[in-house]
Formats: sequence, C-alpha cells, structure tokens
Amino acid sequence: MTYDLIVIGGGPGGYVAAIRAAQLGMKVACVEGRGALGGTCLNVGCIPSKALLNSSAKFAELSHLSSHGIAVGEASIDVPAMMGRKDKIVGDLTKGIAFLFQKNGVDLIEGWATIPAAGQVKVGDEVHETKNILIATGSEPTPLPGIEIDEQNVLSSTGAIALDSVPDHLVVIGAGVIGLELGQVWARLGAKVTVIEYLDRIMPGIDGEIAKLAQRALSKRGLKFQLGRALKFIEETTTGLKLTVDRVGKDKKEVIEADKVLIAVGRRPVTRGLGLEDLGIAVSPRGFIEVDGTFQTSVPGVYAIGDCVPGPMLAHKAEEDGVACVEMLAGETAHVDYNTVPGVVYTDPEVASVGLTEEALKDAGTEYSVGKFAFMANSRARSTGETDGAVKVLAGPNGKILGAHICGAHGGDLIAELVLAMTKGATVSEVASTCHAHPAKGEAVKEACLDALGRAIHA
Ligand SMILES: Cc1cc2nc3c(=O)[nH]c(=O)nc-3n(C[C@H](O)[C@H](O)[C@H](O)COP(=O)(O)OP(=O)(O)OC[C@H]3O[C@@H](n4cnc5c(N)ncnc54)[C@H](O)[C@@H]3O)c2cc1C
Repeated sequence: MTYDLIVIGGGPGGYVAAIRAAQLGMKVACVEGRGALGGTCLNVGCIPSKALLNSSAKFAELSHLSSHGIAVGEASIDVPAMMGRKDKIVGDLTKGIAFLFQKNGVDLIEGWATIPAAGQVKVGDEVHETKNILIATGSEPTPLPGIEIDEQNVLSSTGAIALDSVPDHLVVIGAGVIGLELGQVWARLGAKVTVIEYLDRIMPGIDGEIAKLAQRALSKRGLKFQLGRALKFIEETTTGLKLTVDRVGKDKKEVIEADKVLIAVGRRPVTRGLGLEDLGIAVSPRGFIEVDGTFQTSVPGVYAIGDCVPGPMLAHKAEEDGVACVEMLAGETAHVDYNTVPGVVYTDPEVASVGLTEEALKDAGTEYSVGKFAFMANSRARSTGETDGAVKVLAGPNGKILGAHICGAHGGDLIAELVLAMTKGATVSEVASTCHAHPAKGEAVKEACLDALGRAIHA
C-alpha cells in the first residue's frame, strides 16, 4: 500500500496535520518514536508545565487569603501527589489523540523514522511507501557547552517538571519563557529561586517595557534576578552544586551555591538520524529545515513544519503550519500569518504579546503611536487584587494595530481580542468603540486603544 502522506512526529504540528489530512480524504500514517502521542507539548512541555503552574498557584494563593478575611490552617505540599495529577492529565490527553487517530482513520506507526529516499519512510526494518512525507520532529532543550544535564541535579525542563521534592535553592539559567514559568512553580512551592540571565533584561524578544513590568512583578513574588551573567561551570560538592558565573563585560567571577540547576537557554530543532544530509535537504546554520511558502523542503514531496522549521517555537504555530501545509497539499488555499501568532508566558502575572515590539518599530523607523493602560486603574483588577501590569498597543498612522503587549493576570486570554483585531486589520478606534463588559479586565484593552487615540477615560 502507498500512503498519500506519512507524518514523522506526533507532536501538535504532526498529529494535527495528520488528522486534517485524513479529513481531507488522504490515506495518512503518523510515525512517533517516544511511545506516546502529543510530542513535547503534551508530554514534557505546555501541558505538564501548566498543570504544575496551576497547582502551585493554588498553594501560593493560600498565603494571601487573610486580606479576604479567610483563615486557613497551615498548608502543606505533597509533591508526588501534585506530580501524579500532572501525569494523569498528560496520560489522558495523549490517549485522547490516539482515539482521534482511530476516529479519523490515521494509522499510527510506533518507532523512530528515517527517510531512505523521497517517497519512503523506514521504521525498524519496515519501509513504508508514500507520495508525500511531512517532517514534524520538533525540538529539544539546547545544551550549554561544558554543562552535563543529568536530570537529577542539573536539569532540563523535562527534569524540572518531574522533581519529587521542593529544592532549597533552584538556580535557573535563562530568563526566557520556560525558565520563568518553571522557576515560578518551584518558588511558589517554597524554593529559593535565582534566575541568571546573560542579557541585561528578562524575556528576550518581548517588548522591553512590558518585560520590565513583568520583572518587577516576578521579583515581588520571590524570584531573584541576576542579569548580565553567564554560567561557566558547575561543580558537585558534598553539600550540593557550586556554580561559577561570569559577569558579562566585566572581569569578575561569582560563585553561587544551589541544590538544583535548571538549564533553560532555549530549544533547538531535532533532525538527527532522519537522513536529511543524504537526501540533500537544506538545513540552516542553526539546524532548522529550510522550507518554501508551501512548507516544501529543497526535496520535492518532502515537507516540514513546527519547531524544526524557522519561526516561533510554539505549539499553536506548529498546528497552524501543519494544517496550512496539508490543505495546500490537498489543493486548497492556505496561509499562516506569522505576524499574528501570539506568545504567552504563563507566569503570574501572565505576559502575552502579538506583532511588533516598540523596539522593532523604532529599529525599522516605522511611525507609530502608543496606547497604554495600567491594571491598577481597572476596577475588575482592583476587585481581584491583580493590579500588576498594563496593556500596551502600538498602532500605525492609519490606526491599524502593529503590535500588542500585555503584562497582567489573564493576559493570555486578553490578547485574543487584539490578535483578532490585527488579523482582521481593525484599527485602535474600532477596538475602542467596541462595547466591553464591565467590570472586566478586557476594559483595559479598550482603554489602551483609547489611550492610543489620546482619549483614555480612566487613566
Ligand atoms: C516546558 C515547556 C513548556 C512549553 N510551553 C508552551 C506553551 O505554553 N505554549 C506553547 O505554544 N508552546 C509551549 N512549549 C513549546 C511547545 O511544546 C512546542 O513548540 C511544540 O511542542 C512543537 O510542536 P512540534 O509538533 O513541532 O514538535 P514536538 O512537540 O517536539 O513533537 C515532535 C515529536 O516528533 C517525535 N520525533 C522526533 N524525531 C522522530 C523520528 N525520527 N521518528 C519518529 N518520531 C520522531 C518526537 O518524539 C516528538 O514527540 C513548551 C515547551 C516546553 C519544553
């Protein structure tokens, strides 16, 4: 039998593409090597990290209830039980994808795939024939040279979502989304958490002003930041770990003691073992598979999507890639607008962004206006006590939104309105003239748009 499409990788990019291709009438198989569907996202990424963020937020909230007039006894934490809840959520969701495969007639081939030639996918000793191949092999944590990750004391994100007790002192290397989310999980549960970052700011790529608000709020919640520092090496001592850190641009070293270290300096594409070199598939210097506007690689009939191709390394972006790719394969028109892919950091407060940052607009010499509204002036935020942060919108001379950035509780939900506005080419005036429920945090979005027009009411 010859398949229409074999997808390699059952993460959010691959499994969604496989289901959509089946819906479009293709005979599809998906190859997955890790023993469970859902990829990084469901198994060791988005879902387990959000489950732990949720559990730890509940624990942290207990210590803030007295201002509500609520007294609770001393709270305790059972880390294995918390991990059990997380593992059950992951297990249920990954099994759900296997069910969706059955329902949609997608064949699951378990094992690690290689591509001996265009039109062939080899798993174990078996070679499967196919008209098209879609590579969706995702990404893995980027290691730091000279630092060995043992997942016991020196952790990647995978180890940091599976600890069986709260560390005394966790040092997080890298103030990006993964380091901050997991750092906050363990800080809320009682660990001292120090975040070491090479740059002089946190959350690289996020609008600078919003990142500063986030840093202030995260510091208030217990994260300690040491910016402009680079980890050089880690020594194991009888009492734990000794980290030697360089001050960037200064001839100065510092030593930090910790019992766990999380290396969270980014992710890199996974393509090794596929046979790309022998096939002549072009790969960028950073290891990403190069694709054209239809997601085709330099070899006809072989496509690639998700974290293993350039673009934001996000689950929803991988899904959009996958759907667009197979719809085009089926002869439909499809397009992914990477400028309107939102990104969310699920810390407290959340940080959400879409489109261009103010720094990028300045660098490009683009004319723009700014509208801002602080949650301190939002009545719903005042009533829930979630007053940290602000909404910031950036609009072009015609009023169209070029970028939107939020630091604040539920920012990840609030950004959806601005993503839709950008996708539909709405102006700040159109968002501002839309009726928003009261009292709601969404009113801060409306007010930021009003502010861009110079007429915020509650600022
Ligand atoms: C801790 C953490 C938190 C995250 N949180 C978020 C979040 O909140 N929101 C968000 O959008 N993103 C988040 N991400 C990123 C998100 O997980 C990825 O962007 C997303 O999973 C990419 O999807 P993908 O399908 O491209 O690849 P992956 O999910 O990496 O899936 C690729 C799959 O391919 C399989 N595979 C690889 N090679 C082969 C082969 N040769 N044969 C067979 N199978 C193979 C792998 O086993 C894997 O299952 C997070 C990541 C981490 C680590």
